[in-house]
Amino acid sequence: MAATEFVPNQAKTEGITAHVIWLTTGLSCEGDSVAMTGATNPSLEDIITGAIPGMPRVVVHNTVLAVEQGEEFMQAWYDAEAGKLDPFVLILEGSVPNEKINGDGYWTGMGVNPSNGQPITTNEWIDRLAPKAAAVVAVGTCATYGGIPAMKNNPTGAMGLADYLGWNWKSKAGIPIVNIPGCPAQGDNVTETLMYLVFALAGMAPLPDLDEAGRPTWLFGRTVHESCNRAAFYEEGDFATEYGSDHRCLVKLGCKGPVVKCNVPLRGWINGIGGCPNVGGICMACTMPGFPDKYMPFMDEDAMGRMSSNLAKFTYGPLLRWGRHMNIKRKYDKEPEWRHNRAELTSGYAKRW
Ligand code: SF4
Ligand code: SF4
Ligand code: SF4
Repeated sequence: MAATEFVPNQAKTEGITAHVIWLTTGLSCEGDSVAMTGATNPSLEDIITGAIPGMPRVVVHNTVLAVEQGEEFMQAWYDAEAGKLDPFVLILEGSVPNEKINGDGYWTGMGVNPSNGQPITTNEWIDRLAPKAAAVVAVGTCATYGGIPAMKNNPTGAMGLADYLGWNWKSKAGIPIVNIPGCPAQGDNVTETLMYLVFALAGMAPLPDLDEAGRPTWLFGRTVHESCNRAAFYEEGDFATEYGSDHRCLVKLGCKGPVVKCNVPLRGWINGIGGCPNVGGICMACTMPGFPDKYMPFMDEDAMGRMSSNLAKFTYGPLLRWGRHMNIKRKYDKEPEWRHNRAELTSGYAKRW
């Protein structure tokens, strides 16, 4: 599937082919590629089969999805380097190790350098391809900010792509590194951003609006808490103290949602279903630049969470809950009194002629 070309269904973008060169060989578990296969809005199939009106042809080269092997698969990488695939979007999955401290070996790579028979490191691929890419995207928290491989005391010196290329780096099309964090990145966030970039490169959409951490603002503008379907329980001071609650707020079980930017509670995981706290799991902050170190231990309530939840629990929360439920019971759960089967009309209707 990965390198198969399909003809799109519109003439407007005829002749434009955008290639996606997807490096999964950062320090990676490849979970982001797998998560992307669950995207539905749009799906990867929508993108590569030309099912999206007006979208140029897209060819995706991805190790996890490819059916080609060896040199046949690697050809796209060499073609991109030689300028034969233009435009192309370079995607990195997994964090970037520090090859300056690899001892006598290397940390991670793909393909073999014919001149010396040695692996071509992921870092070398980034060096070769990033200057030629129309856009560069980091997918998953490992690639965006370093993630789990970049935890304190790691031996590889792992970092995110922007730490490696520089936070002010821009592609030859003038686009900064686009970061789509998450562990894994939510699949629709990946396909939607990819679709957006392809339209932008074809001159059919503006450049994406990114925040200070390189994230698309329309996807990462809200906190988990601002979109969580348990948020009203927080406000009313109704907190779960053990797992299994079907509705109470999970902050006392370690949920970090109030300080985490992520749209998963809104978007769900697959086809709108799921979404961490929505379905009973604490938010572990997997999209954040400080993940995981700054949020550990995951299942402990943090100091700010304890302070603000206690404020809600012991002051206004129960009052709000009581007042709302009384209002519902006395007023809003009852039909207006003029709806009856008696012999008079009591709706307040008055003839106007
Ligand atoms: Fe795997 Fe998570 Fe890293 Fe993606 S961000 S490569 S899913 S560990
Ligand atoms: Fe906020 Fe988490 Fe509670 Fe949801 S479960 S309301 S995200 S603290
Ligand atoms: Fe990660 Fe929290 Fe978003 Fe779930 S809700 S994907 S744990 S940041």
